[in-house]
Order: sequence, then structure tokens, then C-alpha cells
Amino acid sequence: MVVLPVANSHESYEVKPTKIIALGLNYNDHVEESKSILPQDVSTEVPTEPILFAKTPNCLTGPDQPIYLPRILSSYNFENLRTDYEGELAVIIGWRCKDLSEDEAMEYVWGYTCTNDVSQRNIQTGDRSGWFRGKSFDTFGPVGPVVVRKENIPDPHNLKLTTRLNGKVVQESNTSFMIFNIPQTVSFVSRNFTLEPGDLILTGTPSGVGPMNHGDTVEVEVEKIGVLRNPVIDPAKEAGA
Ligand code: MG
Repeated sequence: MVVLPVANSHESYEVKPTKIIALGLNYNDHVEESKSILPQDVSTEVPTEPILFAKTPNCLTGPDQPIYLPRILSSYNFENLRTDYEGELAVIIGWRCKDLSEDEAMEYVWGYTCTNDVSQRNIQTGDRSGWFRGKSFDTFGPVGPVVVRKENIPDPHNLKLTTRLNGKVVQESNTSFMIFNIPQTVSFVSRNFTLEPGDLILTGTPSGVGPMNHGDTVEVEVEKIGVLRNPVIDPAKEAGA
């Protein structure tokens, strides 16, 4: 269970979504770089409606907790193992809703946090079931370091988004570059699935995605939220393993 502080308050927030809905290819520069990492028959045309996929709640983990590279990877003979970071802004839904218009959508947003949509590329691109396993391994969804109420971020479409790997900037963008903005995304998701309080919507990553390895530290920083920092551990390489 992940419990995060609520920014500007003494409260805490239990992150307990019934579902985590994520957007693929929601920044133009990432659409372009994806041509080299997404052979799964995914069109890399600029999308005309949000591309949705799911992450299962077992992937959630908190700030400073390890991202574990899955042991099952050693049972495949993958060349160039690649488990990537994807820094993203996550939207937290506050109230049950369905079939929202874009005008109604923001009323149902509770707040925001930072997330890392960790993606095991070898599985994601090779699995016959598609993206499911590669996106939902345990610890593949860090969130935090805090949740911020919607009222404290009046304009979520102008936030700097920075990812650092071992202190080096690897992604640097702004939420203003999303292809589908938050009202468009929340409306679209709600027209497909009833949303419940606590559900998370991950709004996609900009360009610069890349691999993380044992011993790395990855940081996702979204302006007005904070820095979500996680070490990366390959259990097979840990001392005594
Ligand atoms: Mg993503």
C-alpha cells in the first residue's frame, strides 16, 4: 500500500486505484522516437484519439522504494535487455463518473502526482498479448513524492517535466506539449470506463525514454509537485542473491 502526504496539509492520501489507465504516445516528440521501440504493430502516426492501456495496481510503489527488475527476464534469451523509465504527470480521480464531457471533466479530478511508467521493452514489444505484462510488473508504477490537490495547481498544462538518470537530465519537457490535454483525456477515458475515486490516469511521456539498470537512480520531477526518486535493483545482482 502506498500512502503519500497531501501537499500543503497535514493529511495523507492512500493511493488505492481500482484501475490505472495510461496514455501511449501523448507527446509528439515521443511519437517520433517510438518508431524505434514499438514494433508491436502499433501505428506511430500521431494519434487521433487517446491510445489507452492499463497498468495493474500491483505495480504501485512509493518514493524512495526500489524498482525491481523482474527475475523472470533471466528465463528468456533477450539480447539488449531494456527496462525503461517514462516520466509522467498522473491525474487522480476524485469521484465516480462516467460519460463526462470535456467541460465537466475537471470537476472530477482530485489532484496530481508524479509517476514513472516503467516499461519492460523486450516483453512489451514481443509479447503476443501486447503491452500488458511489460507495463505491469511489480514496482513498475512508482508514484509520489506527494499528491497535490487540484486547487493548488490551477494550470496543469504548463508544468515542467524533467527526468534524471543518476543525476543527468534525460527527459525535459512541459505538460503544455501533451497531444490530448487533461479534460480531453479524462472525458475520453470516462466514456470507455466508469471512473472510481482514486483511479489514476497517466498522461504519457515526452521524448528521451531510455533504459535503467541495476544500481541506477531515477528521478521524475514535475513542477509544483516534487521529485519522485527511486533506486533500480536487479534482485539477481544484489549482494547475497
Ligand atoms: Mg507511458
